[in-house]
Amino acid sequence: MRKLAAGNWKMNGTSADIPQLEALAAAHANAGVDVVMCGPATLLHRMAVTGVSIGGEDCHPETSGAHTGDISAEMIKDAGATHVITGHSERRTDHGEDNALIAAKTTAGWAAGLHVILCIGESEAQYRAGDTLEVLRAQMDASIPDGATAQTTTIAYEPIWAIGTGLTPTPEEIAAVHANLRAYLMDRFETGSQMRLLYGGSVKASNADEIFALANVDGALVGGASLKAADFSPIITALENA
Ligand code: PEP
Repeated sequence: MRKLAAGNWKMNGTSADIPQLEALAAAHANAGVDVVMCGPATLLHRMAVTGVSIGGEDCHPETSGAHTGDISAEMIKDAGATHVITGHSERRTDHGEDNALIAAKTTAGWAAGLHVILCIGESEAQYRAGDTLEVLRAQMDASIPDGATAQTTTIAYEPIWAIGTGLTPTPEEIAAVHANLRAYLMDRFETGSQMRLLYGGSVKASNADEIFALANVDGALVGGASLKAADFSPIITALENA
């Protein structure tokens, strides 16, 4: 399977930041891994002409209609995107998104022809209570629709307490979780052995080598360190060399 370095600009970025993507495109024109940058809807058109593959950060489950301020998967595709994130913990928390809604958004992404990066992750309290695997399995049961395939879907494991905090699980913890996720995916989906499993949460140039060396880590979803080409480029290179 081809590995994936995915960035997530979140609510960051204006036209002044497009040169960051142009620099990435120039530096990684023939990357040995897939590179996708997910960005705000306002910038997708401009991001899409840089040469870097582009994704939306969220989509509405319906194709169109009276949903002021929302963006459909069709619109994201039309703007030039190939990917969309669903289930990011900031959507789950800030917008009260539950697993059923995330499943519907994922189905909408597929229907529009987008590859979905579906996020799961436990809270700090759940981690401390030792409930991580149970929480992740429950999220996957209810948020990954039955039709998921390696071609249409990537799963991103993002411990909520590691996002934007500079904290990460130990390599042993990441490896153990990813092994468990792989077993789940193989059990449930025909192409589960080929479905990419990303790690996300405070990935940066200084820890990328160690994380990418782990079994069943097929790439990363990167927030803060995706905003500047100088920070994201070494992460792409680390993935290529893993
Ligand atoms: C994210 O938001 O998906 C993320 C992993 O953020 P960060 O890399 O900043 O922790």
